[in-house]
Amino acid sequence: MTNTVDEDAESAKGASPKILPLCYKVAEHENIIWVCDGAANVGQIGHQVGVLLTNMDKARMCCTTAVAAGSKPHLDIAGRAKKNIVIDGCGNRCASKVLERAGVKIGHAIDISKFLQKVPTLDIYQADVKRIAEIVIKDAGL
Ligand code: SF4
Repeated sequence: MTNTVDEDAESAKGASPKILPLCYKVAEHENIIWVCDGAANVGQIGHQVGVLLTNMDKARMCCTTAVAAGSKPHLDIAGRAKKNIVIDGCGNRCASKVLERAGVKIGHAIDISKFLQKVPTLDIYQADVKRIAEIVIKDAGL
C-alpha cells in the first residue's frame, strides 16, 4: 500500500535517521530531484518537497550546487538518472539553468511561484509543502 503525503510527513519525524541509497549507485533506477533551495518561501518549500519525496521513496534528492560547481560525480549522476526532476522556486529557474548549462536532460520541472506567491521569508507552512509535493507526484508521474 502506498502512503499518503500526510502519513509520510509524520513517519519522516521518526527517531532514527533514514539512510539513503548513494546517488551514484542508484541513479539509473531513481528519479533524481534537484532543488534551487532559494532564500525565499518558494525556495525553502521546494527544498522541503525534495526532502519529503525522498523520504517517501518516490525520488532521491541530489546536490544541485555540486552540479553548478562542475563536480564530475554529480554530473555523471544527472546524466545517468532515470528521470531528472527540477524544483525551482520562481521564474528565474535557477536549478533548471544549472542543469541546462551542464547539458543535462530535464524530465520534469516545476516553478513553485506559479502555485504560490513568492514572499521574502524563510518561514514556510507544511500545508504548502504537502500541496506542492502532491502536484509534483501527479505531474511528474511519481
Ligand atoms: S529559482 Fe527563484 S527562489 Fe530559486 S534560487 Fe533562483 S531566484 Fe531564488
